[in-house]
Amino acid sequence: MMLTVAKFGGTSVANFDAMVRCANIIKNRADIRVVVVSASAGVTNHLVTLSQQSLSGVEQQAIIDEIATIQYAITECLFDKDEANQEVNEILAQLTQLVAEQNTLQTAKTADAILSCGEQMSSRLFARVLRQLECQGAYFDVRDVMTTNSLFGKAVVDTQALKMNCQQLLSPQLQDVVTVTQGFIGRDGLGSTTTLGRGGSDYSAALLAEAINADDLQIWTDVVGIFTTDPRIAKSAHAIDEISFGEAAEMATFGAKILHPATLIPAIRSSIPVFVGSSREPDVGGTRIMETVSSKPTYRSIALRRQQTLVTVKSPAMLHASGFLAKVFAILASHELSVDLITTSEISVALTFDNPPGSTQAVITEKVVEELEQLCEVQVENNLSLVAVIGNGLLRSQGVGTQVFDAIPEANVRMICHGASDNNLCFLVPEQEGEQVVQTLHDNFFV
Ligand code: ADP
Ligand code: ASP
Ligand code: MG
Repeated sequence: MMLTVAKFGGTSVANFDAMVRCANIIKNRADIRVVVVSASAGVTNHLVTLSQQSLSGVEQQAIIDEIATIQYAITECLFDKDEANQEVNEILAQLTQLVAEQNTLQTAKTADAILSCGEQMSSRLFARVLRQLECQGAYFDVRDVMTTNSLFGKAVVDTQALKMNCQQLLSPQLQDVVTVTQGFIGRDGLGSTTTLGRGGSDYSAALLAEAINADDLQIWTDVVGIFTTDPRIAKSAHAIDEISFGEAAEMATFGAKILHPATLIPAIRSSIPVFVGSSREPDVGGTRIMETVSSKPTYRSIALRRQQTLVTVKSPAMLHASGFLAKVFAILASHELSVDLITTSEISVALTFDNPPGSTQAVITEKVVEELEQLCEVQVENNLSLVAVIGNGLLRSQGVGTQVFDAIPEANVRMICHGASDNNLCFLVPEQEGEQVVQTLHDNFFV
């Protein structure tokens, strides 16, 4: 039996009609045995607000009411509306309690428990929609298998434990029912709920596909595949039929929101082909991501990642000295910060950091700056966007740098990284220039 894991994102489970479209996809494809859902569109953003800001009781209630409205619009269309409402109400009651707790505690642990409520509701409702359409859908709590560490907000999954748990709890039921479960959430060794980072449902689905030895992973979203750039930024963007694992992973890493950056790690590790398509238009095709593809063009796509932080550390002591960078990196590592791009000169080093979307706290905190200042001068710049030109053989092809920068003579390029990878050329521009730069480059290379 072919075994497919299908993931449906927030817009795909935003309301009853959207859920029905997804349910029909599942009904039409007998190989889909595990379904991973995100929270209904908008719900996680509301939950982030509830978990982070000190709002008045009235404001908090207004947000909880908005979440309830999104979910009740779905239960309204269910035959078993009363039971569904009861399920939603139980989670909303837990949410209310958690928000009260967070008012005084302000912990990352409670924040994760709050954030998990969206997927908990959407998955329960989706299982009901499936059954309403006479497809045997069974709700499954992914936390029973998705064992993580306790790094709340960006928990790391224990893939060995996941595999063992799946063998015990999930694999035995694959033949009999379509398992409906949550993306994005997990549980640590002490029983606390964790989350894998914003947009993490894609990654959850990939991890589950790997753990159950699936033949295929499908990511159903609101666009008909992976485009040459974000179609919201460039109207001329077009879908790519086939793309290699490596190219798609570069795109995800450099901000193409269509895939969570880590999604392809399990897929590549276990050679699981991935399909990306639109749950609105399941029959128009989509993008297949595979190990080998027939064409590997020099220019494949352009990605934009907003909210980048550039840190420049400067120290005359660095001249001809050794060990300076090691000390800088030791400080960054002690704060679990991961550096993206690096350029160096004789006495200074420029480093970039990604601020994940939806995060309100800057990654470079005052504490980090204070510690770095013990070593050197530190300059922090925000409001930058990273533009990545992604392709193949970019180091071997002649004139890539000239072609890219000649196309955008007006851009205020702040930093360039070219040379480490054959598959990307990256640079930073001021945030307000980012979209224009992407449009211009896209139209230059792809239209
Ligand atoms: P979901 O809720 O289904 O996970 P997301 O909003 O996270 O959906 O991702 C889909 C969105 O990703 C698209 O609507 C599109 O705007 C954006 N996107 C960014 N880059 C690309 C790209 N290269 N190709 C397609 N979509 C992209
Ligand atoms: N619901 C989560 C988010 O909005 C996870 C996901 O949708 O992938 O970030
Ligand atoms: Mg997403």
